[in-house]
Amino acid sequence: MADRISVLLIEDNPIHARLIQNLLEESTTSVFDLNSADRLSTGIERLSGGNIDVVLLDLVLPDSQELETLERVRAAAPEMPIVILTSLDDVTLAAKAVEEGAQDFLIKTETNSRTLTRSIHYAIERTRARKEEWDATMFRLAQQQFLKASQLMGLDVNVQERLLFPQRTHIVTFPFRRDEYNQVETVFGYRVQHLLTMGPTKGGIRYHTDVNLGEVSALAMWMTWKCALMNLPFGGAKGGVRIDPTGLSRRELQRLTRRYTSEIIDIIGPDKDIPAPDMGTDEQVMAWLMDTYSQQKGYTVPGVVTGKPVVLGGSLGRREATGRGLVYLVEAAADHTGLDLNGATAVVQGFGNVGSSTAKFLEEDGAKVLAVSDVTTGIYNPNGLSVQALFDYVAENRFLEGYTEGDTVTNEELLEIECDVLAPCALQNQITGENADRINCKILAEGANGPTTLEADEVLNGKGVFVLPDVLGNAGGVTVSYFEWVQDTQNYMWTLKEINERLHAILLDAFERSIKRATSEGYDLRTAALIEGIQRVTQAKLLRGVFP
Ligand code: GLU
Repeated sequence: MADRISVLLIEDNPIHARLIQNLLEESTTSVFDLNSADRLSTGIERLSGGNIDVVLLDLVLPDSQELETLERVRAAAPEMPIVILTSLDDVTLAAKAVEEGAQDFLIKTETNSRTLTRSIHYAIERTRARKEEWDATMFRLAQQQFLKASQLMGLDVNVQERLLFPQRTHIVTFPFRRDEYNQVETVFGYRVQHLLTMGPTKGGIRYHTDVNLGEVSALAMWMTWKCALMNLPFGGAKGGVRIDPTGLSRRELQRLTRRYTSEIIDIIGPDKDIPAPDMGTDEQVMAWLMDTYSQQKGYTVPGVVTGKPVVLGGSLGRREATGRGLVYLVEAAADHTGLDLNGATAVVQGFGNVGSSTAKFLEEDGAKVLAVSDVTTGIYNPNGLSVQALFDYVAENRFLEGYTEGDTVTNEELLEIECDVLAPCALQNQITGENADRINCKILAEGANGPTTLEADEVLNGKGVFVLPDVLGNAGGVTVSYFEWVQDTQNYMWTLKEINERLHAILLDAFERSIKRATSEGYDLRTAALIEGIQRVTQAKLLRGVFP
């Protein structure tokens, strides 16, 4: 799956416009949606229509000349990345335009598909890096949820202020070699440690094009509440690299992972900060991370990472733990609300690690899985899908696209299918003020982090939907990660039965504590679960005091 970039080309020469169009079509790494304008006025109109990621700009147009062209585009869209397209004769002017704020210039006749794609990619990257590091929807959501909970619980304002931003953030830019030997890609990487009070920090590593400081910080904050709610001896952390991993070969993924590891090596370790898989990373990535760390130390350190293959000291049951834990909690929620899961209907958004195991365990409980989806498509069958057949199809074809045992639906349509259990197990920000009213389920089981906005929460609570919030719902992953870390530290292996029993006990205890608080204090379950976590962290902070 290549990433999709919307390009506005402002160019009056039809031959040059065609040339650029061909180069964009040739790209193997990105898909470009091209809008063309042969005059500046038309280009500016398109810009105000929104949805443009980057402008390719010829400075000499029938209705505008030289730097004035750039100034007018910037006045219309001040934050927009701009790449100047120039002829050989006008290179001095193009260089001047870069001085004035354009990101790059390309000489039309000397450009090939690769240089054009890279220039567009970097223009977008630089603009994002300058403007948007903290500005992520997810970070706003994490902070708002925290502020709501802290106001309701009357949290000490000194503690509140401290917890609103992460304790440590580490941003790196680093190169890695593509398979084409001369091509070196520079990317942004992050590791954020939200809270160091509780013990080592803990949280996954995400490879995704949306990764930035704000997003990683939101995820790190949620890890703090999740670990505290489960009574695990960890603070929250998260890491990530801004890249689309599906566009990388296995060797590229390995080089990227090893270099990223070496960039963050000083701040991770079994007693410091322990990464794990998250979106876009898996057991193999954890194995490379563990190997890179161990090579530097000179001996094998399995406990530096969790979610690694079992043969390297990984834990039985870790791979399915998030989905398994979510379904344990759905069972508890069904009991609580009087729903019989045997014969109930379920819809799962996402068919990665979390979504696929959630679908599997729901099916094992007797639920009929009506629909699943991934980044390529959604599949809906009112008679129920066979989860095993979906697993087999994805094992062979990587994505769900092309699966024929059902109708195709979009990810948005899938969320609105009437069902008993809806499990968003993919991206953040899926259930919002816009679609919450059309959500038609009894239990909303959040396998993803941050799938529901606060506005949507209000609508869902009003409709009587039982919301199993992410910090509780998907905590099975980090709980078995904790077991893995304990087993590594003790050089001891637990059986799968022991692991699942302990997981069940920990999740159910957190569920019951959260329900009790929700009922006795009149909060929704998300707020109650967050307060459980925040309160534990606050107690620890107050007992430790402020240094010096
Ligand atoms: N990435 C997972 C999460 O968001 C797991 C983290 C871990 O196991 O440390 O909870």
